Amino acid sequence: MVEDESAIAELIAINLRHNGHEVAVVSDASAAQAEVDRVLPDLVLLDWMLPGHSGVTLARSWRAQARTRDLPIIILTARAQEADKVAGLDAGADDYLTKPFSPSELMARIRAVLRRKAPQASDVAVEAGGLVLDPATHRVHSQGVEVKLGPTEFRLLHFFMSHPERVHNRAHLLDRVWGDHVFIEERTVDVHVKRLREALDPVGCARLIETVRGSGYRLTLILPSTSSQA
Ligand code: CA
Repeated sequence: MVEDESAIAELIAINLRHNGHEVAVVSDASAAQAEVDRVLPDLVLLDWMLPGHSGVTLARSWRAQARTRDLPIIILTARAQEADKVAGLDAGADDYLTKPFSPSELMARIRAVLRRKAPQASDVAVEAGGLVLDPATHRVHSQGVEVKLGPTEFRLLHFFMSHPERVHNRAHLLDRVWGDHVFIEERTVDVHVKRLREALDPVGCARLIETVRGSGYRLTLILPSTSSQA
């Protein structure tokens, strides 16, 4: 959360934490940039009026960089005019909330943006290729058989299942699954993909995770038939 009015920041942070979110609070654009450089968050609540660079300037610059292009952003502002709202959305905000707002409205907007932009960061169960993954209970099963996964493999599978058929390169997986691309080598991804396949093998789902030569990995539901007779 980027908010320079500390009383408001504190109130929102308490509500977010009460709803199970981890929150980092900063009060200006350069501190926000430093925080995002360190760890890519699931979502940013961004105040419009900040000392120095405005929230809208920051949103526009994040949209222009590959690493932060898809970062979910909700702009918070005291301005209520239609033209300002349009400017905020034009800058790349996913949603726009005018102060004062109720905590329940904020939580609803956060859920809606996460569902749309980062399904792997929401608590909604996902199903793909016979696998069901439930983030609320942290469980994965296939036809009643539970799949045991480590925390990284769980997040990796959640990301793959939330974006089926799309090819993800290693750098992108590090950013989206590990959250911080700076200190981890890309081959770490290969290690965890291997572990994920081993965990999925007993339920016959290892082949859902496909290696795309020269590009990365994807979860595919379009599998070559193994049972057809010539
Ligand atoms: Ca402000």
